[in-house]
Amino acid sequence: MENKISEDELLKKIISNEIPLYQIEKYVDPNKAVEIRRKAIATITNNQFTNINISSIDYSQIYNKNAENVIGIITIPMGIVGPIKIKSKYINNDIFVPLATTEGALIAGVNRGAKAINLSGGAKVVTINDEMSRAPVFTFDSIEDVDRFLKWLPEHEKGIKEAAESTTAHGKLEGFKATVSGNNVFLRFRYYTGDAMGMNMATVASEAASNYIEENFEGAKLIAVSGNMCADKKPANINSLEGRGKTIVAEALIKDEVLEKMFKANKKNIHNLNYIKNWIGSARAGSMTHFNAHFANIVTAIFLATGQDVAQVVESSGGYTITQERENGLYISVTLPSLEVGTVGGGTTLPTQKEALSIMGVVGAGQPEGSNSVKLGEIIASTVLAGELNLLAALAGRELGKAHQKLGRNK
Ligand code: NAP
Repeated sequence: MENKISEDELLKKIISNEIPLYQIEKYVDPNKAVEIRRKAIATITNNQFTNINISSIDYSQIYNKNAENVIGIITIPMGIVGPIKIKSKYINNDIFVPLATTEGALIAGVNRGAKAINLSGGAKVVTINDEMSRAPVFTFDSIEDVDRFLKWLPEHEKGIKEAAESTTAHGKLEGFKATVSGNNVFLRFRYYTGDAMGMNMATVASEAASNYIEENFEGAKLIAVSGNMCADKKPANINSLEGRGKTIVAEALIKDEVLEKMFKANKKNIHNLNYIKNWIGSARAGSMTHFNAHFANIVTAIFLATGQDVAQVVESSGGYTITQERENGLYISVTLPSLEVGTVGGGTTLPTQKEALSIMGVVGAGQPEGSNSVKLGEIIASTVLAGELNLLAALAGRELGKAHQKLGRNK
């Protein structure tokens, strides 16, 4: 810490710009720094803050970890859905799911979908793939060097893997694929990351692997550890085709009588609506990876509640809703090819987010390792299934406007 300075003097120097806002922690501890920074912003912007100061966070726990230049907290209402009856490799249980949102009618709607799933026997869920990707890009003088590099790569897989894995106790490099563009080569690395979402882990490991490549292949020059073929926080077909994070499918068979009683709809209407809206409509709109009604609503609300990286909703909410008319009811499934979630690391250790995770029994590392993050992904997929069923059925039964009028507009 810098020389002692009184709080008043510090505040004055911040307001006059003699001390930058981001340097307050040099003079006082992180909790005091947040308070002084908030006072400075209140004075500069001529405001009084009586809400963003109310927090259960110990700011020393998040300093240099979760956010910079912190002045307080934003509060979002959190509601509960369920329980939802879920059956998968690690779950055979009825689970309550926390959703943080300001969109009226969302929680009620998903809850209704969950009830319909339960009355029909529950949701079945399978995790098909579990890998986080990072794709460094290298440049070479000529395509001849590129050709040589492509032949060199398979012979040095062991060295690349050892370099990557030297940075992490939990991460495993599962493989990589090269994509050539002129004199540039993108290497899309795929990692198993245990219970962590894994983006920091994969980035640090890919930096080490890239150093190994530069040191051992003459002429390879790293342009960036992320060459956008990862593809993080951008809508991209590669995530849908090859997966990113967890690839999960959830399904249910909704009984005819449940559709009739709860939604005043039938399987034929819902199936037809799904086909025309989610498939023809999405195709006509040029939607690359979002052939669904509203995955983003549910994914965002659970991401907010549980401390996930909310910007990853971009690819985590991609996916496909499939329906079929079956003899006993409506078959409905949701496929989420790139759901990026973790139960350790990132924002999952913040106090309110940790409590939200505890509602679902998925705080921290799982037993066996990796099982908690898989469970969280499967719970999200089941809740997405409930959300899709409810919205499609509400549209088929022409009830959507009414629900929003009643719950979303306070009328
Ligand atoms: P992290 O908090 O950076 O790392 C997770 C840590 O948990 C690792 O140190 C790991 O140790 C440890 N760990 C303990 N038990 C574990 C278990 N059972 N399974 C897995 N790991 C375990 O989290 P992250 O998931 O890698 O990264 C998430 C963060 O990355 C978020 O804050 C997100 O916003 C941010 N992010 C970063 C980038 C980027 O490019 N760097 C991009 C997007 C998002 P070991 O590594 O020793 O195994």
